[in-house]
Amino acid sequence: MKVGVLALQGAFIEHEKTLSRIGVESVELRQERDLHAGYQGIILCGGESTVQGKLLRELHMYDGLKGQIAEGMPVFGTCAGLILLAKELCGGENAHLSLMDIAAKRNAYGRQLGSFACEAEFSGLGKIQEVFIRAPYIEKFGEGVEILSVVDGKAVAARQKNMLVTAFHPELTESTAVHEYFINEFVL
Ligand code: GLN
Repeated sequence: MKVGVLALQGAFIEHEKTLSRIGVESVELRQERDLHAGYQGIILCGGESTVQGKLLRELHMYDGLKGQIAEGMPVFGTCAGLILLAKELCGGENAHLSLMDIAAKRNAYGRQLGSFACEAEFSGLGKIQEVFIRAPYIEKFGEGVEILSVVDGKAVAARQKNMLVTAFHPELTESTAVHEYFINEFVL
């Protein structure tokens, strides 16, 4: 099994390391032709969603990537990856891939509390460590969306069809639980 990790900008290496710890091969998606590398799932990493969205278009990867996910390719978006998948961004910014029925609020915790870690319940996994870095949260969501984790009354992880998103960074913790959840529940 192979998972494609979007590697245009941001924390993609940490995802590759986590995948390798659970015995899953990864392939970096850096240009259009990488979208034909024969993988069974995709990870959209944290970083800067505006930069990633711009690069996706400039490198002519936008349509191919969106098409694969729209057709059912399993995808796991962390932080900026959540923002890329959201159908709506709060504050009137333009959405990017616009595939998941959520409205994401960017940099939602303000400057002071921009980055923090906590323990929180993740549906089916129990308590896990959640690391937030200038993170978004899910402000609104549609009927088909299942919320998997809530911190301070805000939805920070969710799933809908073939899509899994977390506002936090499981790839920056010791635990491989969320990656295993993605592989077991979505890819296998
Ligand atoms: N603040 C970033 C954005 O808006 C997301 C931060 C992250 O991915 N750690 O894209």
